[in-house]
Amino acid sequence: MTSAHVFHRFTSARPPIATHGEGIYLFDAEGRRYVDACGGAAVSCLGHAHPEIAAAVAEQVAKLEYVHTGFFTSEAAEELADTMAEMSPGLERVWFTGSGSEAIEAALKLARQYHLERGDIGRSRVITRRQSYHGNTLGALAAGGSVWRRAPYEPLLIEVPEIDTCFEYRFAEPGETAEAYGRRAAQALDDEIVRLGPDTVIAFLAETIVGATAGAVPPAGDYLRQVRETCDRHGVLLILDEVMCGSGRTGTFLACEQYGVVPDILTLGKGLGAGYQPIGAVMCTSEVYDAVASGSGALKHGQTYNAHPVGCAAGLAVQRVIRRDRLLKRVCEAGEQLSNLLEARFANHPNVGDIRGVGLLRAIELVKDRATKAPFDPALALHQRAKEDAFERGLLIYPGGGTIDGRSGDHILLAPPYHVTDGELELIVDLLAKTLDSIL
Ligand code: PLP
Repeated sequence: MTSAHVFHRFTSARPPIATHGEGIYLFDAEGRRYVDACGGAAVSCLGHAHPEIAAAVAEQVAKLEYVHTGFFTSEAAEELADTMAEMSPGLERVWFTGSGSEAIEAALKLARQYHLERGDIGRSRVITRRQSYHGNTLGALAAGGSVWRRAPYEPLLIEVPEIDTCFEYRFAEPGETAEAYGRRAAQALDDEIVRLGPDTVIAFLAETIVGATAGAVPPAGDYLRQVRETCDRHGVLLILDEVMCGSGRTGTFLACEQYGVVPDILTLGKGLGAGYQPIGAVMCTSEVYDAVASGSGALKHGQTYNAHPVGCAAGLAVQRVIRRDRLLKRVCEAGEQLSNLLEARFANHPNVGDIRGVGLLRAIELVKDRATKAPFDPALALHQRAKEDAFERGLLIYPGGGTIDGRSGDHILLAPPYHVTDGELELIVDLLAKTLDSIL
């Protein structure tokens, strides 16, 4: 049954009605089956209709569906925060939100308040990166660099100083090593802080691995450690956005663990609730928390659905399954397998310029010319055509592209569930190859 009243994202087209899911598959009302190779937008890390998560959610709703954090906490919130802190050395405190965008908003406010509590009232700017996405609420949108998402709302956005993302395939000079390029990219942060005046800067905000805007781009060389050191030198907080790449997607609970870096503040979402409930989180160090706790005593922020007990129960059940089934190990193995399959199929493809990613966050970038890395005309919206063709074949992929002033190609992001089998990975890459054959 369809309604004439739902405001769909693409108003010209009514999407099929999804009726149910099972593991990596989704089914629509016409009985068609789709291989979900992207978990929506890197959300469904345990696949669909996982009986244990569904049971944990049902149990929590029946027991305690809601409390306002102005009155109570809940067992689920307390236990999930303990679990997350235990898995995130150096990040001791957790603030729960309802989504990734809300986590970014809270993180930005927490960073500003940290400095205020210490009497450092002149810090008012957050440096961000051009090729980044941090969410669609106005503060998060202002912090991100997604040109088409920002365009209609520019007059509503605060001005945010930006530097280029660390993006080796696009911005390294010919012959420049990853280490040398990473150093150069990190130097851009130092230069920008000095240009603005170090005591005017609140924080530097970056995705540990760039997701939606550039497509699974990991930091090059020692970039992350170098920006950590730069922030420390200038008293600037480091905020890492792991809404997409965190919660185990790269094979460690936090992606930044792989680079030996602990940020001051970190955001999570998506895979934290695996889609079974909307939940996000801000994690921070004791130092950041203590500034508030021993200062004014309250973060001047709050939303009705902070630390929702059912969201927290879902998050807790997700972590139990991930730990019990040793799924982080599986993410590493399956990530290698997916990378090998993509290399075997596309390494010599004339229109695949780059194959990249970490764990089960992988992407291919499409280019018109491999030698020059020239992208296709953005007007072709090739990534959208890829998504539509794949959809017709029963494959869900997450498309993106054309955001770096015309310098970047279209990309296709893959983020299958953590327990994906080798056979399912082969099926995904087979269907993707057919899509590329059809659209190029
Ligand atoms: N940050 C990153 C890195 C994201 O990828 C996203 C969503 O795609 C967000 C923040 C915003 O999260 P949400 O859509 O849950 O508000």
